[in-house]
Amino acid sequence: MAMDELTTRVDGMLDGLCEDLRRLTRIPSIAFPGYPPEPVQQAHDVVVELLREAGVQDVAALRLPDTAPVITGHIPPPHPDAPTVLLYGHYDVQPAGDESLWTTRPFEPTDVDGAIHGRGAADDKSNLIVHLGALRAFDGRPPVGIRVVFEGQEEYGSEFDDYPQEHPDEFACDAMVIADMGNIRPGTGTLTVALRGVVEAIVEVHTLEEAKHSGNFGGAAPDALLVLLHALAALHDANGDVAVPGLRREQWSGGGWNEEEFRRLAGIREGMPLIGTGNLGSRLWSGPAITVTGLDAPSVDKAASAVVPSARAKLNMRCHPAQDPVQAQRLLIEFLVGLRPFGVPLRVTQAGAPGSGFAAATDGVAYRAAHEALRTAWGAEPVHAAAGGSIPLVNSLAAAQPNAEILLFGAQDSMCNLHGPNERVLVSELRDAVVAEAAFFAAYADRFGRD
Ligand SMILES: [Zn+2]
Repeated sequence: MAMDELTTRVDGMLDGLCEDLRRLTRIPSIAFPGYPPEPVQQAHDVVVELLREAGVQDVAALRLPDTAPVITGHIPPPHPDAPTVLLYGHYDVQPAGDESLWTTRPFEPTDVDGAIHGRGAADDKSNLIVHLGALRAFDGRPPVGIRVVFEGQEEYGSEFDDYPQEHPDEFACDAMVIADMGNIRPGTGTLTVALRGVVEAIVEVHTLEEAKHSGNFGGAAPDALLVLLHALAALHDANGDVAVPGLRREQWSGGGWNEEEFRRLAGIREGMPLIGTGNLGSRLWSGPAITVTGLDAPSVDKAASAVVPSARAKLNMRCHPAQDPVQAQRLLIEFLVGLRPFGVPLRVTQAGAPGSGFAAATDGVAYRAAHEALRTAWGAEPVHAAAGGSIPLVNSLAAAQPNAEILLFGAQDSMCNLHGPNERVLVSELRDAVVAEAAFFAAYADRFGRD
């Protein structure tokens, strides 16, 4: 099918796709403890129905303990030499949060200025609709084989994260479209090619048996909070770059936000400088970042005039997509332990398991096809971007199918308020993402085994 014919077909289907998205968004499928399980099941049932109608065969549920069912299904390749594409998305959503901050009701999908507002309208129900739309564009007989994996408990996490690498055969494919993603800004087709790894550590200082009068003891008795602050201050240099030696850092060569966009997205106050040096991508995506996420110390309101006997802080470190997070964690802990501010030893322990980053191989035939497809959909050369968060399932899928190319794109965009109030998806982005995925199927089938 020619590209302009595909585009015309998608345009003709768009109203129906939006209606299906509203139907799904109306269901509060929150797979968190304390929320009723019925809506999750209801969303599951609707997605199953839509998949069957779209031509997906053997639609079934993978059931794991304490995990909402994972929807699976497939469409056989049209001929033995055609590639198979795995389609991923999730049908559960985040809780609505503080409803008073919403201008519409979170589970009453509402059209506002070319967008559909509602919890899950973007994350990730929009992308389930993208997959459906791409299948419908070919009347359920796409030029590639299809394997569907739609998760039902992504936001809370589940045993499914480890499942693919333990059962690799069930995920056999040549390429994956992980559609839990979107564009760096509306209108800029974006392939997310890297995710940073994550490591956490706790730093503790214990210096005195108990708090002591600061007038009688301050000046010689070691102040645990002061020691901790010296240690934390050593984590960055004067420019705000991470000072822990050995952490991988490279200039980012892909696309990304300009400083103006970043300031707006981050809500940075007027007149505030950014920290760190190098291009924004290297600070956000291809270099380390250390954030102090918690501090146990007396509160200002309850502060006594006393030397503080103990204090602790929690650190969250993001590391280069290709750096081994266990090694990064060791470097962080060794650096802190070696500091001994004023000669005082620090106790440093890891918090939680390190999470691996992800760096896609971008030189294969699926990437070439995706470039062509995203260019068709958004009318310009797509950019390569990265995301700050790690997604455990992506690593598990990559481990299960090391030869499969992994593509992350979708209908979301950086401004769509994922997990926050007033989540929305732009209908124009939804349309372009459907065109992109359908065009990807066509381009990939065409190029596979040939280039
Ligand atoms: Zn998501």
